[in-house]
Amino acid sequence: MAFSRFAYAPAPESRSAVNIRPSYGLFIAGEWASPLDGGHFKTESPSSQEVLAEVSSAGPEDVDRAVRAARRAYEETWAPMPGKERAKYIFRVARLIQERSRELAVLESLDNGKPIKESRDVDVPLAAAHFFYHAGWADKLAYAGLGPDPRPIGVVGQVIPWNFPLLMAAWKLAPALATGNTCVLKPAETTPLSALVLAEIFEQADLPPGVVNIVTGDGGTGATLVAHPGIDKVAFTGSTEVGKHILGALAGTGKRITLELGGKAANIVFDDAPLSQAVEGIVNGIFFNQGHVCCAGSRLLVQEPVAEGVVEALKRRLATLRLGDPLDKNTDIGAINSPQQLEKIRELAAAGEAEGAERWSPACQIPERGYWFPPTVFTGVAPGQRIAREEIFGPVLSVLTFRTPEEAIEKANNTTYGLSAGVWTDKGSRALQVASRLKAGVVWANTFNRFDPASPFGGYRESGFGREGGRQGLSQYLKGALDG
Ligand code: NAD
Repeated sequence: MAFSRFAYAPAPESRSAVNIRPSYGLFIAGEWASPLDGGHFKTESPSSQEVLAEVSSAGPEDVDRAVRAARRAYEETWAPMPGKERAKYIFRVARLIQERSRELAVLESLDNGKPIKESRDVDVPLAAAHFFYHAGWADKLAYAGLGPDPRPIGVVGQVIPWNFPLLMAAWKLAPALATGNTCVLKPAETTPLSALVLAEIFEQADLPPGVVNIVTGDGGTGATLVAHPGIDKVAFTGSTEVGKHILGALAGTGKRITLELGGKAANIVFDDAPLSQAVEGIVNGIFFNQGHVCCAGSRLLVQEPVAEGVVEALKRRLATLRLGDPLDKNTDIGAINSPQQLEKIRELAAAGEAEGAERWSPACQIPERGYWFPPTVFTGVAPGQRIAREEIFGPVLSVLTFRTPEEAIEKANNTTYGLSAGVWTDKGSRALQVASRLKAGVVWANTFNRFDPASPFGGYRESGFGREGGRQGLSQYLKGALDG
């Protein structure tokens, strides 16, 4: 529903691009299997609450079958295969993602609630790019400075969240496959569908059976997978809370582990910054994907002389955004992924008000069905308040001010997280100097939320450890790699 003063005619993307099956099995050993000891659950569209499909929930026996299939494929097929042959499969997967991109984009917007222009222009092309990039590495591992004899680790258990379902699957699978590992992937329970279409793509690409197995289910399935003794490495992306739990559960098992967890990024705007670009960057930093972004710029730190002007410009810009049907090509803000997530956002926003910050949202008509939260800005935020410290994972921005670069750095680093940050300034030297002192895995200068498969991504402190993307990401899937 538009809350802009401009009227836009609806421009819905057609749903005919997707053919959602009424029910999905588990993808184990290259076949679709009914759960042996699991059950079923329904996945719904968060923008309409329409049930999209029934999905299988893997129980312990199912997880065990998947891990055994991955082990067989590892020993008999995938690890012994020359890198140049593995590359061909991965390349084929990338091409098939491109060929089925419209279908994947529509499906992702239906199941996740994100606007089609994001799934179409960000999620799906980046997912294909990850497979292309890693296809290129598969036959060059021995010459990439990854040590004299980089070897795969074995069977990898991978658990991913709901905010970028297809893209997170690509981030996990592409480097693991390029390095000769086999995988058991568990997608998030609210967004399983794009991973299941990816399984169809693996079938189409003739990927040998068992190289990738996809077990759907909730956190219980995830816990069973990471605890399975047949897993050599766990790669988890999700909340810090669950990440800590997994770390505790795996202590002493000898399993390798990488964790990509939450964040509370600072987006720092200096008074010499190109302000209209900065406003676009702030909007992209926190309101992109409804703020369902681990590296979202949820804390705006703005230098005092320009603070008022930046906040005014930001509010004007937010008043032009359109919230509503994710399949409409004009939509900027889609649906919140689940009622549970909506409740978390509401609770934290209410805490912000109760703690004395000033709350603002543009006039906004919320659709009757589905889960929605309007873009929200809090000003007058103090560093100790919950909205300045806790990850909200929704379209909620906390604005703080600073006087000197020193104060900006101190406030930016005043967090238990350390995933990402942004710096806006006209001076390259200042951008570099500030970036080098920010305790964040990724620092963007005069931009925000930009991703590339060649660029490593990952956190410090409670944002986790390990990197995804680039040479550094490959090393996490190799034994004997120098930085692995
Ligand atoms: P979540 O931790 O609740 O769930 C993530 C996944 O873990 C889901 O598949 C879930 O089923 C599974 N899971 C839940 N309990 C488990 C357990 N005990 N053992 C194993 N698996 C379990 O997180 P979420 O709400 O789905 O995702 C949002 C969080 O993910 C945010 O905190 C966000 O910052 C983080 N995230 C981080 C990155 C990153 O790269 N750092 C990227 C995306 C999302």
